[in-house]
Amino acid sequence: PPVLAIESSCDDTGCAILDADGQVLGESLLSQESHAPLGGVVPEIAARAHLEALPALVDLTLERAGLQLDDIAVFAATTGPGLIGGVIVGSTYAKGLAMALNRPFMAINHIEAHVLTPRLPEPAQGPAMTSTKTDSTPPSPAFPYLALLMSGGHCQCVAVEGVGRYRQLGATIDDAAGEAFDKVAKMLGLGWPGGPAVEKLAREGDPHAYNLPRPLKGRAGCDFSFSGLKTAVARQIAPYGMAPLPRQVAADLAASFQQAVADVMVDRAANALALFPEATTLVVAGGVAANTVLRTRLQDLARAHGIGFQAPALRLCTDNAVMIGWAALEHLRQGGPAPDDLDLPPRPRWPLSECRPAPERAAE
Ligand code: ATP
Ligand code: FE
Repeated sequence: PPVLAIESSCDDTGCAILDADGQVLGESLLSQESHAPLGGVVPEIAARAHLEALPALVDLTLERAGLQLDDIAVFAATTGPGLIGGVIVGSTYAKGLAMALNRPFMAINHIEAHVLTPRLPEPAQGPAMTSTKTDSTPPSPAFPYLALLMSGGHCQCVAVEGVGRYRQLGATIDDAAGEAFDKVAKMLGLGWPGGPAVEKLAREGDPHAYNLPRPLKGRAGCDFSFSGLKTAVARQIAPYGMAPLPRQVAADLAASFQQAVADVMVDRAANALALFPEATTLVVAGGVAANTVLRTRLQDLARAHGIGFQAPALRLCTDNAVMIGWAALEHLRQGGPAPDDLDLPPRPRWPLSECRPAPERAAE
């Protein structure tokens, strides 16, 4: 029985319909373009844009799936964490549909969805993927695995012991990884969103041109810090004042910055693996996991540790509704009734440690 999922926690409005085994029946994603000239997401503009986009997007997704609203068995939506205006819009819309059709509504944690998405049984794509998943095999990677979540708002090492069973091993003490990419992109005059632009420009640059700091590298634990690195980039740019940066300087800085982030990620992930030796796979998730250099370096680390490596398909790294639908299915696969989360309020903050398996929630 199909699940219809909605994502609206930042600037992407997404709707997806998945069948019980995780096959994507229909999918649509609208990335709001109105924020780009403003250099960042404006929450009020985002919330209004989600509201305007959702009805047509849901219709389009149903059409792509060849289904009617009445065919949907469960409705799910991001209910946090995220920009609260958008979260309210998307979750309320899904709750409305669920109530109108008398179906359960499932409140999905956006971060949990990022962390579980590598298990989505999709035909694999991209260089850093293994391609052996089929409908009949159980989702892989199997639990337990180490997830390195690196997104626009988060950067953490998570011990994933099962659906709804997460332990944070370390996290950023200042900026998120994606935030650092976005800020450096802005400094380099690359516009927004920054991550993909930095990666592209870095291909023309020398990663050893600038000796930038590797914050916390070599230290115990697996916390992250990026603000010192960002400041170091700013210091290199300062001498150019108001003049535009020469292209080669910008490219060298982009490459050196990306290299520094990769070195830090590898160091922190290695420590996290030592803290969580049960992990059979290293998983990367979140928008920054779309970065090919980082994927490759972390894949090498996993290989050196003799464990598996898995990353979502590139299009599933950044925000989308497929991952929300998949998280709902993961909870439904735990057995028990779907919890009816109609009373659960949208949450701007919602730590992973407060997630629980759906059957436990439903039993309350
Ligand atoms: P969160 O999931 O923490 O709430 P978010 O939903 O805004 O934050 P995502 O959509 O998961 O974040 O990821 C967006 C971030 O990923 C942005 O900061 C973007 O710059 C970064 N990003 C996307 N592609 C790349 C890339 N190729 N290299 C580096 N960073 C990237
Ligand atoms: Fe996200």
